[in-house]
Amino acid sequence: MKEVTHILIVEDDEDDYVLTKDCLDELSGYSFKLFWVTHHTLALRELQTGHYDLCLLDYRLGEIDGLSILQEATSQQITTPIVMLTGQSDEQLDQMALEAGAQDFIIKSDLSSPRFDRAIRYALSRKEIQQEKLERQKAEEDNRSKDRFIAHLSHELRTPLTSILGYTEMLLESEMHKYASSELNIILNNGQHLLNLLNDVLDLSKITADKLELKATKVDLGELLSDVYSLMNMSALDNGLMLSITSATPLPEKIIIDATRFRQILINLISNAIKFTKEGSVKVELSLVDATQTPTMLVKVTDTGIGIGQDKLVDIFRPFEQVEDIVTRKEEGAGLGLAISSELINRMGGEISVTSKQDFGSCFTIRLKLQVEESSPNKHLDIHLSKNYQQDTDKPKLIGDVLIVDDLVDIRSLTGHLVQTTGANVEFAENGLEALNKIIERSQSKPEFSLVIMDLHMPMMNGREAIIAIRKQGFTGRIIAMTATLQQSIKPELIQLGFDDVLAKPIDKKILWGSLSKYLTNNSVTAPPNVTLLAETSNPNNLELTQTKTCLLVEDDSDSAQLMSLLLAKLNIKTTLAKDGRSCIRSMKERNHWDLILIDIGLPDMNGLDLVKKLREQKISGEIVILSGEEPDRSILSQLKVRRSILKPVSMNVLKKITSTLT
Ligand code: ADP
Repeated sequence: MKEVTHILIVEDDEDDYVLTKDCLDELSGYSFKLFWVTHHTLALRELQTGHYDLCLLDYRLGEIDGLSILQEATSQQITTPIVMLTGQSDEQLDQMALEAGAQDFIIKSDLSSPRFDRAIRYALSRKEIQQEKLERQKAEEDNRSKDRFIAHLSHELRTPLTSILGYTEMLLESEMHKYASSELNIILNNGQHLLNLLNDVLDLSKITADKLELKATKVDLGELLSDVYSLMNMSALDNGLMLSITSATPLPEKIIIDATRFRQILINLISNAIKFTKEGSVKVELSLVDATQTPTMLVKVTDTGIGIGQDKLVDIFRPFEQVEDIVTRKEEGAGLGLAISSELINRMGGEISVTSKQDFGSCFTIRLKLQVEESSPNKHLDIHLSKNYQQDTDKPKLIGDVLIVDDLVDIRSLTGHLVQTTGANVEFAENGLEALNKIIERSQSKPEFSLVIMDLHMPMMNGREAIIAIRKQGFTGRIIAMTATLQQSIKPELIQLGFDDVLAKPIDKKILWGSLSKYLTNNSVTAPPNVTLLAETSNPNNLELTQTKTCLLVEDDSDSAQLMSLLLAKLNIKTTLAKDGRSCIRSMKERNHWDLILIDIGLPDMNGLDLVKKLREQKISGEIVILSGEEPDRSILSQLKVRRSILKPVSMNVLKKITSTLT
């Protein structure tokens, strides 16, 4: 309850005013501040100020009755509760007052009775509830406009990034890279850095706005840690550091957790440890405490790096906090990683802490209550690559087409990178089903893949299901399974299923290259250069012979549109550009089938989704794909029968994936 309650009394009889005032003074638990007016125009003016918690309104006010004031107040959307006071009981009047918006109706003779007390209390508490509702609505509206702002900002920033990153990559692949390769790499690195930063800021704003949903699923802890190791070990080696992941106590094989976010936290802590350590090691040690009660997992990431001063330790989990200020610091980063990680850990019901000694190193500790699979046995874990950790072994020169199948994008590109450096060509699939489709597709035209490297744990169709389906299709090429499961017994079972070999995770560059040499053709003379001339692909005369598919691209940003047309031309797709919704509808009238219709969500004359609605009404054919700077709402997309969307910046790989499955 507020300290002072402001009451407006509208009464033209002074005796009645004094009586009302006395009765109000009698009520306990309130401190009233009264304001008295005698005329209806003054009454309305006061009510318009919104200053009052309650109004007591006399029914008879000279020539005008209280009812018309009440009606006027309601039509002006005045929210102050009004209690009508009258000289005698009149059921009809009572009804009319309530219909006109009065909170209550009191006969003046009841002013000294408990009925008056109750009417005041009810009216005031209703006012409070109404106030809370208004505040909640306002907060929701503020949140919605913040969301709209973030979505808009994200879109506006990602669109130019598409051009910056796309053209730079294209130049690096062309003959031009000979002349300005280091400058182009600087642009590419900075562009990518900007994109990471944008993702971090959006991530953090989503978490703080309570918009982030954690998706806990059953996860194989050993697999997850092996993948993290594979990803981080490269940069540890590049910095001459030894990275290890071990367990001090047995750990459950399967835990229930949001794997993407847990991986993100670990990668952030380990990459910081690597970034701020010049020599020595980075050790990740996991253990299980209180194993009987609520099992709790401790993850300690310890480094032998520069350490953090005691005075800075409290602040480093806050956004944009860095130990050195931005001007003097040498390491890149924006100081968001730890803020995001600690918010995520809090959301998971855990906590993070740090101890550190300057010049000796730091230790970050995560404490997480674990949800464990009932039947999951506890096992010791030890992930490290002991031998050759500092040597870059001779890489083989090979030819062949390799299909890499893994659901984790980072692991896919890491494996792809290692395979590509040998000279072999790489294609990717995100799960067993996509791999199966690619293999079937190939069998119709090109020679089959020379080799398939396939992870076992994947959504949609896992490795075991996939190998059976692939072999059933008559695919005779080599297929290697990748797994972190260390038991020896697993290999014969996998060979029995149809795999040719099994590679252990984390990925060891040397072992992977050894395997590739065994299954791919040696090409020690020259590795095929992966160079395409920009001029060659953008010359329309060269394309006509092979172009079979068409695309209508609806995009108002001309740089981004031109880049996408070039990338699509490389994929043998002929693009027609529409700059806005209206031009798109016009183009559709001339021709209503395109194999692909790419629509930017933020068009100058209409929202991309509204355009899709209009196109659906026109019954156009061809696949519609939405381009946007923020993940669009899946339910809206499915209502509009849009199966896929592209998050900007658009890259060759993304377009390749979309266009390879056009029907
Ligand atoms: P950044 O992107 O700057 O690394 P973080 O939020 O991940 O952002 O880290 C914030 C700051 O905390 C870093 O800039 C660095 O000053 C300090 N820091 C984080 N981890 C370590 C570490 N392992 N050793 C030393 N300093 C660290």
